[in-house]
Amino acid sequence: AAVSPGLVLARDVSKTFGSRKALDGVSISVASGEMVALIGPSGSGKSTLLRSITGLQSIDAGAGTIQVFGETVQKDGRVTGSVRKARGKLGMIFQQFNLVGRLSLFSNVMLGALGRLPAWKGLLGAWPQADKDKAMAALHRVGVSDYAAQRANTLSGGQQQRGAIARAIVQGAKAILADEPVASLDPVSARKVMELLVELNRRDGMGVIVTLHQVDYAIRYCDRVIALQGGKIVYDGPSTALDQQRLIEIYGPE
Ligand code: ADP
Ligand code: MG
Repeated sequence: AAVSPGLVLARDVSKTFGSRKALDGVSISVASGEMVALIGPSGSGKSTLLRSITGLQSIDAGAGTIQVFGETVQKDGRVTGSVRKARGKLGMIFQQFNLVGRLSLFSNVMLGALGRLPAWKGLLGAWPQADKDKAMAALHRVGVSDYAAQRANTLSGGQQQRGAIARAIVQGAKAILADEPVASLDPVSARKVMELLVELNRRDGMGVIVTLHQVDYAIRYCDRVIALQGGKIVYDGPSTALDQQRLIEIYGPE
């Protein structure tokens, strides 16, 4: 039987900025339904790793390769053409500015179904009813359907992040790759967003790779933790095994 390719298979990935190695020989393998936290001190390479996986930047030429759902997205120091196919299966969420501020929340989520910004006139409503129903169902699921008609830039940070997750659902994403999605949220909103990611993982089998500033969130919500330090992986294992000693090794003594 065919073995289903995992979410991410990265082999010996390095990325240099000037003389600085942001990633230094990183290899990871993440299965399709995993819930993984990416942690490590500021500047340790978390965002660089996520950007390499999503093909937003190239990695160094050499031995490094990255596959996403079996598609080779990085090879020979270049982002390949297969990245489009891979991205269709990924919902990408950043710390901020995930939504188009002057469009309604509903329109933003519809962009997930359309996969692009339609002509301006297209925003006024000639959308397939099935897509509209899907968008409303997704907004409902993430708990922000009451705000569907509101301009995205009038919503709170937490509401916007949930809207971004709704857009990933409508897009049909098989996995969510999120870079510090809760870093600028208040604790209550942050917990709601993390719980939503857990629910999508448990109930829908969506893979989740999330970079987190807060270690306690990584331990509480994620099954597996990958820790970077100076561009190298210093821990990759169950979140339950992250004790004080390990955290000191990752972040240094406080
Ligand atoms: P993290 O997300 O863990 O805070 P980053 O991946 O953003 O870390 O950065 C890792 C290292 O790479 C840092 O030293 C950072 O300054 C450097 N870096 C990241 N992006 C760039 C860039 N576009 N140009 C130059 N240096 C960069
Ligand atoms: Mg970062």
